[in-house]
Amino acid sequence: MSLIVQKFGGSSVANAKMIFNVANIITRAYQEGNDVVVVVSAQGDMTDELIEKANEINLNASKREMDVLMASGEQISIALLSIAIEKLGFPVTSLLGWQAGVMTSSTYGSAMITRIDPGRIKKELDKKNIVIVAGFQGLSQYYDVTTLGRGGSDTSAVGIAVALSADLCQIYTDVEGVYTADPRFIENAIKLESISYDEMLELSTLGAKVLNNRSVEIAKKHNVELEVLSSFVEVPGTIVREAANVEKMLISGVAKDNNVAKISITGMPDAQGWAFRIFSKLSARDINVDTILQSAVHDDKRDIFFTVNEDRLNDTIEVLSKYCESVEGSNLIYDKNVSKVSIVGAGMQTHAGVAAKMFEALFAANIDIQMISTSEIKVSVIVAQSDADEAVRTVHNAFFTTVD
Ligand code: ASP
Ligand code: MG
Repeated sequence: MSLIVQKFGGSSVANAKMIFNVANIITRAYQEGNDVVVVVSAQGDMTDELIEKANEINLNASKREMDVLMASGEQISIALLSIAIEKLGFPVTSLLGWQAGVMTSSTYGSAMITRIDPGRIKKELDKKNIVIVAGFQGLSQYYDVTTLGRGGSDTSAVGIAVALSADLCQIYTDVEGVYTADPRFIENAIKLESISYDEMLELSTLGAKVLNNRSVEIAKKHNVELEVLSSFVEVPGTIVREAANVEKMLISGVAKDNNVAKISITGMPDAQGWAFRIFSKLSARDINVDTILQSAVHDDKRDIFFTVNEDRLNDTIEVLSKYCESVEGSNLIYDKNVSKVSIVGAGMQTHAGVAAKMFEALFAANIDIQMISTSEIKVSVIVAQSDADEAVRTVHNAFFTTVD
């Protein structure tokens, strides 16, 4: 007998038929003699719809009230799923985040889990109940409802798996696992049998939507094996685990992120410390800066280019336009129409020429690279958003088309 945590995303519980499908997966695991704890997201696009409802009334709603609103989507899905499981004749209890002991920081909208007290879940398991927990939500130390940030129910699931020392954490979704590229757009994308935490973390940070990156961080820290699998097709998924036990591939995926904006500050006088002055202003506003490029000095001037998350573009412009007014000759420009295309793979640590192969593919497709950044296991390029899909396709082909 094992203790299994299963997580189902919004697309897996979008309507009554799908809820019964999920209820069948859950009760099968229960019938096999396992203790089963389920974490579920809001149905379909419910969270987006709730946000729209609020926006119709007040575009500047407080984050606290937005959390009260957004958390309600998961309350609906735990109840409906439990009602379906009752109908199938199995013992079940639903729990809201706070009832399941999920305590968080009080940063509404992006709260961090601080502690999980699994006492109530364990009590319900002792009573042989299937336990259905609302993902994405918790309780702050002030007894306020919080949410963990979009896509946060993956994090709830992994957190609960850690707190319960679960034997397995299964993340059920609408694709069959982790692919070398988004299988909905890249026909010859290959499903991976396994992938390391580090590679998965890079891929999810760089735009692969299959797992929330915080959930991967927690899984890595506590060495919880994750399985990503489909709630619609019964085939083995992808295992996310320690590097030593994964299949060895040169690169494990190509990811695309459109949520990127490029900032250029040109014409600053040639002096030291610009990077410090600019980036400390941004960090004071909690704005993360990504790919950075600083030009050589030309005509006694310097330019600096970098990218930020597009969600933070307005804040970035606000901070920097004020600053640039105080720096004579400087000029601030931004461009939302850029994307980041990245390759990720532990194999590039030991193989030369991986980046070159990526650049060659982009060159052959006539795609202009605006910026480049690298880490030990990834290479990212910034390209025009209109080139991004073609860039993914051509780079994926370069690495994954076998010539037989
Ligand atoms: N329902 C939440 C969202 O849409 C949480 C999740 O799906 O994981 O972001
Ligand atoms: Mg999700």
